[in-house]
Amino acid sequence: MNVHEYQGKEILRKYGVTTPRGIPCFSVDEAMAAAEELGGNVWVVKAQIHAGGRGKGGGVKVATNKEQLREYADAILGMQLVTPQTGPEGKLVNRLYIEEGADIADELYVGALVDRETQKVVLMCSSEGGMDIEEVAEATPEKILKIFVDPTTGLDRAEAKDVCAKIGIPDVAIEEGADFLEGLYQAFVASDASLAEINPLVVTGDNRVVALDAKFNIDSNALYRQEEIVAYRDLTEEDANEIEASKWGLSYISLDGNIGCLVNGAGLAMATMDIIQLYGGEPANFLDVGGGANKEQVTEAFKIMLANPKVEGILVNIFGGIMQCDVIAEGIVAAAKEVGLSVPLVVRLEGTNVKQGRAILDQSDVKLQTATTMADAAEKIAAAVKA
Ligand code: ADP
Ligand code: MG
Repeated sequence: MNVHEYQGKEILRKYGVTTPRGIPCFSVDEAMAAAEELGGNVWVVKAQIHAGGRGKGGGVKVATNKEQLREYADAILGMQLVTPQTGPEGKLVNRLYIEEGADIADELYVGALVDRETQKVVLMCSSEGGMDIEEVAEATPEKILKIFVDPTTGLDRAEAKDVCAKIGIPDVAIEEGADFLEGLYQAFVASDASLAEINPLVVTGDNRVVALDAKFNIDSNALYRQEEIVAYRDLTEEDANEIEASKWGLSYISLDGNIGCLVNGAGLAMATMDIIQLYGGEPANFLDVGGGANKEQVTEAFKIMLANPKVEGILVNIFGGIMQCDVIAEGIVAAAKEVGLSVPLVVRLEGTNVKQGRAILDQSDVKLQTATTMADAAEKIAAAVKA
């Protein structure tokens, strides 16, 4: 699950990481009131969307008077913000963050994530903040310093200070820099994050170390014990189909193609997407109905796939184990009738009660093609959507 920048900063503050003061807002009036409350004479108007690169897309603007502030807030609220991370369609901005302007002397980078190889949290630190860290990693990997944190002993203070010095934090701010890394590490662990990225963290003119941006991804498997973070969830940022699917206990992820896939088991779903591509098709989604899907779930899965205007064909690939093929076949027939199937359908069943399942499909008056192997199924659906 993703959270907004201002929410990430709330998490950071709890662990002693310094951030500028700021106030989230939903209207221009609220933005004006926020600036009033913050005081000072420089404010930054920041679009709150679940994507980075906002500055490049015109979603972060520095205002030096109230008139400008109103102008920027008005322009950014309601805009369809396109950044390198949103895709070409962009994202609608419906919240702003009004933040006090920081006096930036230097922009640095720190990111925390889990390193699978060493099974430790790694802090990636670089002097090259404010820009695409992926480019830095590609072109000048030596400019990214890594601190692997031993979970039993925590962040090594001496190592933290050494890395702070190497990325350009001035001597007078080294202790504060180490505190920053410690706070970030604590915030990462306590919030069950899979990624916490501060780009940029800045050294200010008066040598303070401040998080100017915050991007947190939280491991969804841990949300059951993250009540405060669950409250941060912004459904307007999420795919409507994915939300609907989660209500029915279906694992569903939207993709860009035109072939809807209904599969049981995540591994089979991945393999099905691969083989569709092998035959020149493009999957419209990943959909795992799980091991024991019932007729209602199959019907809902069909509804969700058909609600997507991009879907031009559906491939059902079910391996009957605990789930029996005849039950699934009945579900498919019922669902196809109920939702009024409007696109080609290819069904491949294998496993428990497969004969009975195929018989049900053959005897039904639902327009569908059956397939025996995965390759056969993928070839048929790819051909059907091209036709
Ligand atoms: P994004 O990474 O989505 O573009 P950031 O929050 O990193 O958004 O902001 C982009 C840039 O805007 C930063 O690199 C920094 O130069 C500037 N900026 C952001 N917040 C402030 C602030 N509070 N004061 C001054 N400059 C800021
Ligand atoms: Mg940033």
